[in-house]
Amino acid sequence: MAHIKIDENRCKTCYLCIETCPKGLIKKSNRVNKLGEYTVEFVDEKKECIGCAMCAMRCPDVAIVEVHK
Ligand code: SF4
Ligand code: SF4
Repeated sequence: MAHIKIDENRCKTCYLCIETCPKGLIKKSNRVNKLGEYTVEFVDEKKECIGCAMCAMRCPDVAIVEVHK
């Protein structure tokens, strides 16, 4: 099933991926990365990810490092 992997330490916390995911599967995390910012996390309890890679294409910091279909 489709899923993504986020490198939290590359994330610059612009939150563009949150706006971009058509399924709303990326959320602001309560974890702080090495830049001292609240990063994002992939939350897909209902297995809704379609592997479209829109999140990865939108991320300006290439922090979404893997998209599996
Ligand atoms: S688009 Fe990239 S840098 Fe911006 S919040 Fe999402 S993962 Fe982080
Ligand atoms: S691959 Fe598509 S559906 Fe899956 S998290 Fe990224 S934008 Fe959302």
